[in-house]
Order: sequence, then C-alpha cells, then structure tokens
Amino acid sequence: MAQKILQIGHPALRKPTLKLTTEEILDDRIQTLIHSMCETMRAAPGVGLAAPQIGESLQIIVIEDRPEYSKTLTHEQREIRQRIPIPLHILINPKITEKEAIQVEFFEGCLSTEGFIAVVPRAFKIKVTALNEKAELVNIQAQGWYARILQHEIDHLNGILCTDRMYPATLMTIPNYTEFWSGKSVPEVLR
Ligand code: ZN
Repeated sequence: MAQKILQIGHPALRKPTLKLTTEEILDDRIQTLIHSMCETMRAAPGVGLAAPQIGESLQIIVIEDRPEYSKTLTHEQREIRQRIPIPLHILINPKITEKEAIQVEFFEGCLSTEGFIAVVPRAFKIKVTALNEKAELVNIQAQGWYARILQHEIDHLNGILCTDRMYPATLMTIPNYTEFWSGKSVPEVLR
C-alpha cells in the first residue's frame, strides 16, 4: 500500500540510516517494505524514493523514470538533461565510489518538498555500488538525469535534502516556475 511521504522538517528525514545484511534484505518485512516503497513512488508519482521519506531509517532506495514522466519535456530539454527512461530497480546500501568533478545545474524537486523546486548542481557522472532486492551486488555507471536521481536519493540516506545543495535564490513554487521560468535555460535563470 502507498504510504504517506514525510515532508521537510520531519526529523526522520535527517536521521542516520542503517545498512542491511543479506539476511535482512531477504526477510519478508524488508521485501514488504520495498514493495510498499515502489507503490508509494508510483502513486506520488516520482522518479525515486528513499526509505527515510516514509519514516524508515534504512539504506533502501527505489528508482523508476517512466517514459511518460518526461513526455512534457521537449526533445531538446530531454537531450540537454540527458534524460532517458530508467526501469524500476531497488538499491540497498548504495555507495558512490566515483564522482566526476564536472557539475551540471538543473531544476530539481523532491517528494518531501512538495510544491517547490530549485536549481541544484550535481555531478554529471557517477559510479555506484549497491545490493539489489535479492542481495546481489550491482555496479552502476550513470550519467545525466539518472546520475542526478541517484545522487538525490543517496543524499536522503545521509539525511541530506536537495534544499541543502540548492542555489537558495532559485527556490520557487511549481506554478511560478511554470509561469515565469520553465521556458528559460538554467544559465538565464541564474542571471
Ligand atoms: Zn527527495
């Protein structure tokens, strides 16, 4: 069942999270939690969800970027963001092992800062190691929008929200973004 997503200010979003053992991952309680996280992410809808967002201080994230989510973007916007659909997958105990120094800036939102977005700089390319829901090792090389989603969700496991990383002057409501800024490039917005 879809859960309530905690909003910024809730202490659970800032708490340290626990790693899971293979035994715990395969346990019914965790499998049920993973299922519920997927349902919650899809109901929102969002492209990622971390366990602390539903009040579980555990190192679990779920990610899915469905083709229909980027339908409203133009071809050019998809290209510049390097946004491609990402199938549903689950990452447990994820760790960023490499981060490219080059950063890219785009508007980013979060299910825990409902109604607001801001420009957030993120590394363009990263490498991640994690376990999946079967406790198998996975190595990921990601770039573009997928790398952004991974950095955002892994931040949640460390009690970090995108508002900690944003350019404060770019924080805005989604209606205001749509009305005034969505047609502009990020460098134009920053000017
Ligand atoms: Zn978030």
